Amino acid sequence: MSVNTSRVQVQFWGTRGSLARPGRRTLRYGGNTSCVQVTSPKGSLVVIDCGTGAHDLGRSLLAEARGPLRGSILFSHTHWDHIQGLPFFLPVYKEQNHLRILGYEGARHGLANILTSQMESPFFPIGLKEVPANVKIEELKEKSFNIGSVRVDSCMANHPGVCAGYRLSTAGGSIAFFPIVLILLGVMVAVNWRRRHAAAMAVLNSESPESSWTAADLLPRSAYSHRVTAKELAQHTKGV
Ligand SMILES: [Zn+2]
Repeated sequence: MSVNTSRVQVQFWGTRGSLARPGRRTLRYGGNTSCVQVTSPKGSLVVIDCGTGAHDLGRSLLAEARGPLRGSILFSHTHWDHIQGLPFFLPVYKEQNHLRILGYEGARHGLANILTSQMESPFFPIGLKEVPANVKIEELKEKSFNIGSVRVDSCMANHPGVCAGYRLSTAGGSIAFFPIVLILLGVMVAVNWRRRHAAAMAVLNSESPESSWTAADLLPRSAYSHRVTAKELAQHTKGV
């Protein structure tokens, strides 16, 4: 892939949490679950999460490809809304493609085990080990690493199980992806992370359309696994 820009490119293919919600209410921001495409100025492709948005992303990548596709998929965590698009990510069905899958352990079950399990019968007719593309799954141990020309720094999120947020640094700017936090659901992007971090957080503290719920929605959901308490929300809002 060649990119004729000096800036990092970011495209959102899915930003919704928990459940894909196509329909009139999600026309503007889309109804697909988490999937973000990042392309560095040097052409390194990093897909962050593979929710249902990965289907359209895969179609787009194949339509644009002028040869074998090389890219990496970086998982924030293995909850269903972040991995369920992988079986429908069409580049895995082309044998010339090379895909590197990275993520931290799937809450004690292992990343490879989690990803292959969701494609086992009776859940899906084609196993992940049977797909034609060259797919390599790597369980991350380090907090900082490189994906091609992209430097990645991670930090763990306040979220059930193992869940990481990432900062991707390129020669053309940096982006930060923080998929889900107990006190806030959504996607945070800050081009030039250090300068705009506060601004990005301020945007998300409003009713973020990239989220499943507004703050008002969240408060009664204290029994949900991604629970939020009024105290946590108040502390977070106050601290930004
Ligand atoms: Zn989750």
